[in-house]
Amino acid sequence: MFRLGVHISIAKGLVNSLIEAEGLKCTAMQIFIRNPRGYARKKLADQEIESFKNKRRSININPLVVHGSYLLNLASSDEKLRKKTISLVKEDLKICNVIDADLYVVHFGSNTDKKIGIKFMRESLGEILTGYKGNTVLLLENTAGEGNKLGSNIDQIAKSIKGLGKKVGICLDSAHLFAAGVDIRKKSVLNKFLQEFDSKIGLNKLKLLHLNDSKYGLAEHKDRHQHIGNGFIGRSGFKTFINHPLLCGLPMILETPSEKEKDDIKNLNKVKYLKIK
Ligand SMILES: [Zn+2]
Ligand SMILES: [Zn+2]
Repeated sequence: MFRLGVHISIAKGLVNSLIEAEGLKCTAMQIFIRNPRGYARKKLADQEIESFKNKRRSININPLVVHGSYLLNLASSDEKLRKKTISLVKEDLKICNVIDADLYVVHFGSNTDKKIGIKFMRESLGEILTGYKGNTVLLLENTAGEGNKLGSNIDQIAKSIKGLGKKVGICLDSAHLFAAGVDIRKKSVLNKFLQEFDSKIGLNKLKLLHLNDSKYGLAEHKDRHQHIGNGFIGRSGFKTFINHPLLCGLPMILETPSEKEKDDIKNLNKVKYLKIK
């Protein structure tokens, strides 16, 4: 079954986020469990978590994805920030397991020195996953390669996670891929990219797609999301991307702008319309 959802706020509580997902006819969803541009986190009461699990079962939301804070940096040369990131990711994973989240997404870190950055990524991930027995799988999300961000090409992704086991995987964001220089509008480019991904990382590591159109052009290395079909990827580009035989079975989450009331439903409907049944 095709799984599609959108990022939803938990500002009005966990259960309300599910009611919103239900209203949007989502079959998957993504939430933040702490302030995305900070570290603060709302305490979740046991009763709220129980109600959330019951409601989720009744409306069948799978997967449940949690997105980590944007301030996390697993690759930082600043030891204090790196250590803080490691402990926050560990804490997030604990909460993810309490609320039965299937996937936890964190962006690749950044470092002015790519080689050292990748080394820190590996070490940080190793520390997080050593002895980790939870069910939530940690996913690293590719970046547009803006500034000093790592994770905008297959080699960096491969080096960061090689040999780290089954509890780590990859989330690919369409806008980030495009901004990083992969022309996902063309089937031949996608074929080549996915072939390389398979040989260096393994397609079994690919667990989730973020669907966003891009406000900037191909290889501009800027991370700005646009409504589906209204950006540089465009409608026919998305049709090619979401129907690719190696991608069409993956769960898909929209992180498109949500400024007006109908934005989410419009974007979800566009994806449904473009998806070949
Ligand atoms: Zn994303
Ligand atoms: Zn983005």
